[in-house]
Amino acid sequence: MYAFKRELKLNNKETSKMRGMAGFRRFVYNFGLEMLKASWSFEGIKASDSFRLNEIKKVFTNHVMTLPEYAWTRKYPSLIYQSAFQDLADAIARWRKGLAKFPVLASKKKGDKFTLYKANAVYPKKGEPALPFTNRVVIEPGRHINLPGYGIVKSKEKVDYYYSSQRFTVSRTADRWFVSSNIDAEHVPPIIHKVEKVGIDLGVATFATLSDNSTIVAPTTLKQAKTKLSKLQWRNRHKQLGSKKKGIRASNNAKKFSRELGRKHSKIANVRKDFLHKTTTKISKKYYQIRLEDLNVKGMMANHKLAEAVSNNGFYEFRRQLEYKQSHYGTKVEIVDRWFPSSKTCSECGHKQDMKLSERVFNCGGCQVSIPRDLNAAINLKNADNHLAAFKEKKSIKRSRGKDL
Ligand SMILES: [Zn+2]
Repeated sequence: MYAFKRELKLNNKETSKMRGMAGFRRFVYNFGLEMLKASWSFEGIKASDSFRLNEIKKVFTNHVMTLPEYAWTRKYPSLIYQSAFQDLADAIARWRKGLAKFPVLASKKKGDKFTLYKANAVYPKKGEPALPFTNRVVIEPGRHINLPGYGIVKSKEKVDYYYSSQRFTVSRTADRWFVSSNIDAEHVPPIIHKVEKVGIDLGVATFATLSDNSTIVAPTTLKQAKTKLSKLQWRNRHKQLGSKKKGIRASNNAKKFSRELGRKHSKIANVRKDFLHKTTTKISKKYYQIRLEDLNVKGMMANHKLAEAVSNNGFYEFRRQLEYKQSHYGTKVEIVDRWFPSSKTCSECGHKQDMKLSERVFNCGGCQVSIPRDLNAAINLKNADNHLAAFKEKKSIKRSRGKDL
């Protein structure tokens, strides 16, 4: 278990709201516990604890909360009482298993406390792996913590990385308020990355060149499958798959070819998906700040080979997956402005010169350095502090939310 704990910075209004919420939680917890005990005293009712608690919760929602004398319960987030019932169910389950004593009534003497559970799970898109964070609340770096069911609270101490959890406990010790969270070890994002910053240049020959001079090559199976596919397409270029309009019926051979083509396409898609997932996970585990070039679609479409690479090699998918994995791995993906001349600038001295696509080595006319083209571009991306497209947007959002971030 990994513990996350931060002291909160609350004003008077927030403090009294927190106190009220803790009181509401006590009220619900004790109500549930008393009702559960009472239900056991009626003989002849055979029902599990969870069934009983569910029924009690219904009574609370549909009856107690509607009474005028309990109108005050309606001003608190519903997650408070949902979570109070969950706490109670957990306590009873632990007692049944012999792991804890029978739960006692909550009292003010023991201090203020309430738990907030993430209520609704968010599921990943079809085909995407169910990353643990998808049904979790993600805390972003900074001083603002977004508590489920409550909203933003301010932390006294800065949070440096992304954290994710399903359950947050707010508690008071003397006059100090804290938020804490326990996270299963397997769900903790690797908060310390081996490498602080990396620039990644995507290309045709080499899928990705990283600024630390490592490279990622697309699997040969992918290349082989693609070659097979184009051969197949070429050999069958005259086959017609029938047309109702023209009144042509598809031949058996054409149908066979079409099925074969479909199989080949899905095989390629699977190999690519697997490759991209493994690659983006590996990168997200190792590097913290990941800089990529904004893909210049127009410019690339003008070049047939590049256009094919963009659509076939999954550059967009690569970027999307890196962005999607940010919250889980605590990374920061930054997109470099598409006008930044990463290939035409010397990463050593900043000298700019024209570079044909066929030139694979950057021979600097300024400082005479000789460096592989892709590596030069990757290093430039890594150092492009003043050319971040997405970063600028983010900054302005943060500024409008508060100067402390
Ligand atoms: Zn130079």
